[in-house]
Amino acid sequence: MEKETIWSVILKNHFPNSYLEIDLDAISKNLEAIKQRVPNKKVLAVVKCNAYSHGVVNVAKHIQEQVDWFAVANVDEAIELRRASITKPVLVFGVPTYETAAAYQTHNLTATVSHLTHFSILMDGTDYHLNFDTGMGRLGFSPEQVKEVRQQAVLNQRLTCSGIYSHYATADDPGSELVQKQADRFSDLIKQFEEIPLKHISNTGAATNYNTDHYDMIRTGLGLLGYNPGQTRHKWLKPALTWKSKVAQVRPVKRGDTVSYGATWRCPEDGYLATIPVGYGDGIPRSLSNKLQVSINGKLYSQVGNVTMDYIMVYLKGDKISTDADVTLLGGEALNAADWSELAGTNVHEILTNLKGRFEREYLNF
Ligand SMILES: *Cc1c(COP(=O)(O)O)cnc(C)c1O
Repeated sequence: MEKETIWSVILKNHFPNSYLEIDLDAISKNLEAIKQRVPNKKVLAVVKCNAYSHGVVNVAKHIQEQVDWFAVANVDEAIELRRASITKPVLVFGVPTYETAAAYQTHNLTATVSHLTHFSILMDGTDYHLNFDTGMGRLGFSPEQVKEVRQQAVLNQRLTCSGIYSHYATADDPGSELVQKQADRFSDLIKQFEEIPLKHISNTGAATNYNTDHYDMIRTGLGLLGYNPGQTRHKWLKPALTWKSKVAQVRPVKRGDTVSYGATWRCPEDGYLATIPVGYGDGIPRSLSNKLQVSINGKLYSQVGNVTMDYIMVYLKGDKISTDADVTLLGGEALNAADWSELAGTNVHEILTNLKGRFEREYLNF
């Protein structure tokens, strides 16, 4: 944590209601654990969407020496990395446009070519990876286009092709037939591109759940942050993020009282109610209403009533906890993002990227 100077105390004009504690050392260790699972492969760290809310600049700086590549979703995110003195290659997954073409060149970014028009859009000297759609149904050439893509790649010597990749749709699930199908399609089509140095297809799920060919490099986002996608949880990954807040108010609550919008919860027994100053505006899914538990002074308590934009309420039963008590909302002693995703019926990625609220980030092992 940065030391506060007397001036920053006097001039403080930022009073966050909660903070994210991000353990950079845990991220480094997750990386090493993943590398052990896929020995002798290069590693591309996927740090799109502000490193899934972990704060892209500090995360990328911390792991820069441990990884070979970075990837982000769009050019703006890539420029942010370059401005933060990240010098490793940066792959942009998104599509290049006439508007962004110059930025690839200026900032030395690697483009993704996933449509024939992209060959003409990119400027001389731009580095790129080819993207083939083997079953994801999102971006990329169809395997039937192999011949014309190869032709364009050969014709466009003004560009540099440094890689070819594809993306799995179902690698979260350890026994998926589609993964095998996509792997076969990829292994077939890359036969036409043997001279391309970097071939890659595996995301975190593929790298942790499958022993298929990972080719030259794996791409991991969620894994770095200590989670596996899908149902399988791996003990060797440690969540790096903990979300904390403080109790804003504690009040008595009487048997029969209802709490929050819609009055969906009725108090079963006289006791105390804590109000915590975080809500769906900060990233707590409203669908977790009456399902969530948070940790106060090391003990789990039930969140009750509907999650509101700025607050959640927690039933303390008979415990008269003091105002200002520390609350762990996510990670640490509380439920983690995998628990939240199961309760909310979504994936871990969405839980993490939704944390874009009104908090401060504090980095451990900076
Ligand atoms: C987001 C993304 C990844 C990373 O996925 P994780 O499940 O976080 O490992 C890899 N490749 C592509 C193309 C992506 O869009």
